[in-house]
Amino acid sequence: MFLGWTAIGLAWYWAVRLRKPVVHGSIYRWDGQVTTFVPFEGPCYRCMYPTQPPPELAPACAVAGPRRRHLERLARRRDVRTLPRGQCGGGPMTSAAQPATGPAIERYEAVIGIEIHTRLRTASKMFCRCSTEYDGAPPNTHVCPVCLGLPGALPVINRRAVELVLATGMAIEATTPEITRWDRKNYFYPDLPKGYQISQYELPIVQGGSLPIHTEDGTKTIRITRAHLEEDAGKSLHEDFRGMSGIDLNRAGTPLLEIVTEPDLRGAGEAVAYARALHALVTWIGICDGNMQEGSFRCDANVSVRRAPDQPLGTRCEIKNLNSIRFGAQAIEYEARRQIGVLEEGGAIVQQTRLFDSGRGVTRPMRSKEEAHDYRYFPDPDLVPLVLDPAWVEAISAGLPELPDAKKARFISDYGLSDTDAQVLARNSARNQIQLGVSGLGAGAKPEEAREVALADRERLEETIAGAH
Ligand code: ADP
Ligand code: MG
Ligand code: ZN
Repeated sequence: MFLGWTAIGLAWYWAVRLRKPVVHGSIYRWDGQVTTFVPFEGPCYRCMYPTQPPPELAPACAVAGPRRRHLERLARRRDVRTLPRGQCGGGPMTSAAQPATGPAIERYEAVIGIEIHTRLRTASKMFCRCSTEYDGAPPNTHVCPVCLGLPGALPVINRRAVELVLATGMAIEATTPEITRWDRKNYFYPDLPKGYQISQYELPIVQGGSLPIHTEDGTKTIRITRAHLEEDAGKSLHEDFRGMSGIDLNRAGTPLLEIVTEPDLRGAGEAVAYARALHALVTWIGICDGNMQEGSFRCDANVSVRRAPDQPLGTRCEIKNLNSIRFGAQAIEYEARRQIGVLEEGGAIVQQTRLFDSGRGVTRPMRSKEEAHDYRYFPDPDLVPLVLDPAWVEAISAGLPELPDAKKARFISDYGLSDTDAQVLARNSARNQIQLGVSGLGAGAKPEEAREVALADRERLEETIAGAH
């Protein structure tokens, strides 16, 4: 009798236990939709949102009904992983010397290298058939086993994404390798619950190349180190939940092109000129819509300072997620002054990742800098290396629109226009065509509009030629 009750009790216990979700920082419910919440305490690693500690849910909490009760229950559980308060994975952070002002700044040179993530204009995600038209869609509705990284799902390379990247490589006169490969970059974060990002490490599609920038001091060529194709992570939604963050994986698996420069930029002015030039290029050839607010064009700036141009490079700090050109310039200027302040007080710069607080106009430490070996890169076993057929590469090259700089040069040589006239005309024509979406690789077929733009451009060109002679 006693044994019988024990057996029933155990069976009931295990039945209930097994029905409970497994909590390792995030929860999945696979019923056509995936609902994911993570307990969150302390600043977010990605955006520094100061999330509130569980368990009391704020009275203003937007979540109601069964979902809220579910969250409350979760928040009371102790077996969930939370980030320690006020700490975010970093080691010791640098103490705050006063940012330098006045003449001290003049004695130093700021050296900047920029990494820009551009979201590629493809209809589907990088390795699956999910649509990239998820803006405004309910969370976790544009997902599938592949972009969720569920066991057994196999990624398939998006041909269009590779084409857009090859086109970008040609536009910056980079080298195209014969073979390219995908690697896993391993790290866990709630918005990357599968634990790795598919990226390119040793054999990126774009190697070398350069981009001219135009500043007050003239034209300068910025060397591009590399550009590689990778998938984006999901998004943490902090505002609506206290002690919890919602995880929206609609963005997970979207193709991104990361373009990295050599540390060739000097001062915020050149960094801004570079970001503008690259923005103009990617929107012109049509690989990216360039929308900075929506995160289609995101910049990270690596900043260091040194006393003289012939000195070795200083230790750098990386400022993440600069989502506007103006904030980017402010962030770089502040960061250079901060580093000069530390050095002037006899301190040393600690290499770290920082975020720009646009409200206060300062950069704040986010985490100590991770190194490549921290990510345990290795070739993705689910994806074979991709051989880039020269005929394919050639065909893409033939489809590239004439670049604004080439257009300008042609106006000067063919029509004898002045540098300024040629520049204005080339820029205007580029802008018109981008606005109407009739230029570039991502352009839809709109023959009527294309004809109109071409005629208007032609007219303006003729007027300028007539005025010039
Ligand atoms: P990670 O992958 O850690 O971000 P990389 O070696 O790819 O590092 O470099 C990233 C960027 O940092 C590049 O744009 C590079 O030009 C820039 N960079 C490297 N060293 C310095 C430095 N001392 N000062 C400023 N920028 C630098
Ligand atoms: Mg980096
Ligand atoms: Zn998918």
